[in-house]
Amino acid sequence: MKTAALSAALRLGLDRPLRWLRRKSAVVLMYHGFTDRPSDGLVNYQGNRLQQETFRRQLAFLKDHCHLVTLRQVAASLSGGPALPDYAVALSIDDGYESVYTLGFPVLREAKAPATLFVATQFVDERIPLWPDRLEHAFAGAPGDAAARREVLKGLQRRAKGLVPDQRERLIAPIEAELGRALILDASAPETYRPVTWAQGKEMADSGLVEIGSHTHTHTIVTLLDEESARRELALSKSLVEKNVQRPCDLFCYPNGDYDDFSPKTSLYLKDAGYRCGLTTVAGFVAPGSDPFEMLRFGTDDRDSFEKFRMTFSLGRNLLQAARRGLA
Ligand SMILES: [Zn+2]
Repeated sequence: MKTAALSAALRLGLDRPLRWLRRKSAVVLMYHGFTDRPSDGLVNYQGNRLQQETFRRQLAFLKDHCHLVTLRQVAASLSGGPALPDYAVALSIDDGYESVYTLGFPVLREAKAPATLFVATQFVDERIPLWPDRLEHAFAGAPGDAAARREVLKGLQRRAKGLVPDQRERLIAPIEAELGRALILDASAPETYRPVTWAQGKEMADSGLVEIGSHTHTHTIVTLLDEESARRELALSKSLVEKNVQRPCDLFCYPNGDYDDFSPKTSLYLKDAGYRCGLTTVAGFVAPGSDPFEMLRFGTDDRDSFEKFRMTFSLGRNLLQAARRGLA
């Protein structure tokens, strides 16, 4: 009923005045890859990979109601560059999955929509799987009730998040061995976990639509690292992108990106390494005057309704929840 009321309100265009109130603030959307099927309850259980059709529908909405800009334009506007057009929206895609090339890029091309892909360079360069995928893959093939497996998986992912690479390895490798399911990213690996190749990344960058940024080398939370390791991650990932894509890499996106995962100190490391911005996963608009090294974003989730997506641009998620409570 609540959703029906919201749908009816949106059909009447009642979000338009609210969007107008927000027109001077940019929205940076966060994606994590794409899929051609709904979640089976374990693979993509968090809804990180968006179905291609949903992405197509979102871009059609953005073309009609917003002004698509590049993240570089957003970063420049926050550092004294030209002001953004009203209703500015930039697309960012984290991690560097192959599905960005196979399923996302064709849709970006159809819509002529620019996006920035943030790659964890060890994932792309050495085809070492991202650790959440190793756990997901191990549990996806394990015996037993799916809901129970998902709960154990969630708990382990929460634990692994706070670990540096060595500690994480000591947690994950025995689980893979126990379940007899280690994720190896060869040609037979499930498509959903594979990284983009450098050639695919370069092709997307050469199209002029996709810019490649850094998401660290090992996808470790930067504030967990000592200064030397943090600076090494930032420099190494930058140089690997530049070498393989043959373009400057000066846009950065924090792994995990929550309040504890960036700080004035990490902003300084980014500036020293030659980056122009740092993207977080904290939800919010990018208003004129925002700190380019603590850029807020709104996530997308395959489990969300289109109404929720649409309301992002007028109210933001927190206010939407309040509105929902009001409608209840
Ligand atoms: Zn990530």
